Amino acid sequence: MIDLQVHTSASDGNWTLENVLRAALKERICAIAITDHDCVDAWKPSTIFPTIKRLAPVDRFETFDDHYIINDLQVIHAEEITCAYRGFEIHLLGYFLCGSMYKDSELEMHNRAMIEATKRRAQSMISKLQQAGYLLEWNDVVRPELPQMIRREFIADKLLERNRARITAELKAKAITSNVSPRLVSDNLIGRDSPFYASVPEQYLAIRGRHPPELKDAVEMVMYCGGVPVISHPGRYKFLASSPLADMPLTGETSKVSLSTPAGKIDREQLVRDFKQASRGLGGLEVHNRKHVLQQIPIWRDLARRYELLVTAGTDFHGERDDYLGALVENGPAGIEMVEKLALAADHIRRIVR
Ligand SMILES: [Zn+2]
Repeated sequence: MIDLQVHTSASDGNWTLENVLRAALKERICAIAITDHDCVDAWKPSTIFPTIKRLAPVDRFETFDDHYIINDLQVIHAEEITCAYRGFEIHLLGYFLCGSMYKDSELEMHNRAMIEATKRRAQSMISKLQQAGYLLEWNDVVRPELPQMIRREFIADKLLERNRARITAELKAKAITSNVSPRLVSDNLIGRDSPFYASVPEQYLAIRGRHPPELKDAVEMVMYCGGVPVISHPGRYKFLASSPLADMPLTGETSKVSLSTPAGKIDREQLVRDFKQASRGLGGLEVHNRKHVLQQIPIWRDLARRYELLVTAGTDFHGERDDYLGALVENGPAGIEMVEKLALAADHIRRIVR
């Protein structure tokens, strides 16, 4: 079993890397990729080594430039980058990123900029909250052992930790009676319409003059780090023209089905063509994603086959149950084959870009 899309608390997952690895070992998954959003905390040596210590006893632990191994589990260095495609938001996965090539790369600059910008945002939100009498210090959100990127949910989490009674009463006064969670606080107390909200200052973020980066630039950023670019959850983009799913056959040949293109929508085949060109034919499509409806799988598998792109599978785990990890590909061997094909593509990419 494999799982090539897993998020941790370093970005927007609910589980720490330690919990994810523990579950993956318990579920006997053979390969996972930690794909935190615009962030590689999960495969930084400063994160991995203390985590392995806490996981002890571990029979085998080896690190490589683009992955590490714990017992029988391979952990692939990866990331999910938010980027832009023809004005729409799209996510790009990068697999087998090399630590040595990542150093001082554009991708590292992009990730650093995200951290810096979220820190600036946190500073201004904290000072607004302090002025209103809430207990919250800089040290509550920035410490070496905490995630580098400070997401709004994380500020909400710490804010709630220190001001639970006051916040519960305030939400109650607004007739919000559901369980007080960081998510609820993030949406209702420090959300976009709130006086405590601050946006992420964009001047820190522009790479090649753009934020978010263009898809083709993000593809280059990944390949420059020796990684394989893969379009994340292609079935989830509402901007793609979709044919009525009711008309879709559940299995079998789908290439003959003509796809309607409503005004303002982009043909999915156009995206695949553009991506193939940007990745020089060495990328892939995440055909199997837990959030894809079943009918979409043959459509994307067919596009991957026709455009000779790799097929990958990931649950898009954000901290659900242990058994949510993995278990996406119908048969086990196909899963590990995907990983082997990705590794081969990564080798090929490194020969081109070096
Ligand atoms: Zn995504």
